[in-house]
Amino acid sequence: MALAQDGSIQTTDPRTGAPLAVVPDHDAAGVARAVARARDAFPTWSALTFKERSRHLKAVRDRLLDRAEELVDVICAETGKQRAEAVTTELMAICETIDWYAKHGEGALRTQQVAAGTMAHKKAWLRYEPVGVVGVISPWNYPFTLSMTPVLTALFAGCTVVLKPSEVTPTVGLAVGELFAGGPWGDIVQVVTGGGATGEALVRSGVDKVCFTGSVRTGKRVMAAAADSLTPVLLELGGKDPMVVCADADVERAAKGAVWGAFQNSGQTCMSVERVYVERAVYDEFVERVVAATSAIRQDDGGGDIGSMTFEPQLDVVERHLADAVAKGAKVLTGGARLDRPGLWFGPTVLVDVDHTMDIMRDETFGPVLPIMAVDSVDEAVKLANDSVYGLNSSVWTRDEELGISVANRLQSGNVCINDCIVSYAVTGLPFGGVKESGIGRVHGVAGLREFCNSKSVLGQRVGTPRELWWFPVPAGLDALGIRTMRLRFGSSVATRLKGLRRR
Ligand code: NAD
Repeated sequence: MALAQDGSIQTTDPRTGAPLAVVPDHDAAGVARAVARARDAFPTWSALTFKERSRHLKAVRDRLLDRAEELVDVICAETGKQRAEAVTTELMAICETIDWYAKHGEGALRTQQVAAGTMAHKKAWLRYEPVGVVGVISPWNYPFTLSMTPVLTALFAGCTVVLKPSEVTPTVGLAVGELFAGGPWGDIVQVVTGGGATGEALVRSGVDKVCFTGSVRTGKRVMAAAADSLTPVLLELGGKDPMVVCADADVERAAKGAVWGAFQNSGQTCMSVERVYVERAVYDEFVERVVAATSAIRQDDGGGDIGSMTFEPQLDVVERHLADAVAKGAKVLTGGARLDRPGLWFGPTVLVDVDHTMDIMRDETFGPVLPIMAVDSVDEAVKLANDSVYGLNSSVWTRDEELGISVANRLQSGNVCINDCIVSYAVTGLPFGGVKESGIGRVHGVAGLREFCNSKSVLGQRVGTPRELWWFPVPAGLDALGIRTMRLRFGSSVATRLKGLRRR
């Protein structure tokens, strides 16, 4: 990927380094035009019933299914990922998301009656209204899923969208746009390709909400830019997901899970297993099994287990973290270097003798590296797991369900898996997002849909009265009446409530 002077972006195939496509690098005026078109489409789209919107979005899913092979080609060419990965984590994940919202979205957005408390003569309700035009900014690691998820959720909520895909994977972004193009609702999704400046222009364009998925560093810039106009932001940011392996764990399963969690998508998943804490009693066996399973990984752009990495600067981060760790005493047990072939290939790497003075245990590596650390107790593992600015996903591995739940409750992260990793994201009903610097807000589930709505609280009259008691002129004795009413309604003892019945 290179940003050219003439307002275009050249992308490359990371599997070979060959040039792939040239797409426009939109400036602020281009972004403004896209936002205007999305705004024009908003009144009619938001006026549809939920069922009508669902029908249209299910037709989009059919289009996706018709073009599945072609979409997998586009995704793999720009990211270097394996075809099976593209099918499951990109296409199937999105079919699932559409399915869940089509089934459960209407209920989540239904107007809710709310008890009016002391004002029993009134009625209160809560309405969910679409925020308007949503700006979606997406990253390169799951360019289809992480564009489609916010786009679709915003559309289900009744919003229209302007999508700014990553400059590393713009063709996937354009393919997303094509799924929605044409017909009476052809303008509900606009796509603007470009780099960081295009993203910033979108944040500053007057959209009603920004949904950003990417790094913590950029997320902070997005939030700062959005602050000028108080545009609300949903931030899905990076992680440094810890895995806690207890002494009673099924070590074979835990080791296989760690290897998959660290190396699928070449470690370029915000919820990759980025560090492992293993109780000393099973440490040697765990490490041995992890090394054996890692050495067996087939790294191939055909039918292997993992593909290439996607973005050259990310390989630089991997190499920098490894060099820092090795300089501070870490030992590489397998991998540790680029493969001797064109493209962005890095061997899956297992590292031991690591500690928290090393970048590899503290900063997001986002590559195929698995550092493993021995601990003396579960308490120590939890303490180290929580010793991080991140808090996206985490996992605990044990045969004792009670222990698993208690560790899960103590881990500081927005999501936790017990005896598995990463896959909680695949359950669309579970809201997904981070705590600490891993983000603000949630995608998926009821919470995810409501992120794209303003809630409107409405208070109406149940019983019509000529005036309210507290209006002017304030009636004499209203203070005493107020105290009696409070005692009667809120007193938790019979004595206090009885006092509320007495005039003095
Ligand atoms: P990035 O932050 O470099 O870029 C993300 C997007 O932001 C791109 O489209 C980019 O063009 C745009 N951008 C850059 N500067 C901008 C600015 N000033 N204003 C607005 N937009 C701007 O991230 P990346 O390298 O594409 O993706 C990898 C990161 O994303 C990792 O940190 C990963 O953990 C994170 N991520 C998080 C989740 C999640 O759901 N929490 C999912 C996937 C990836």
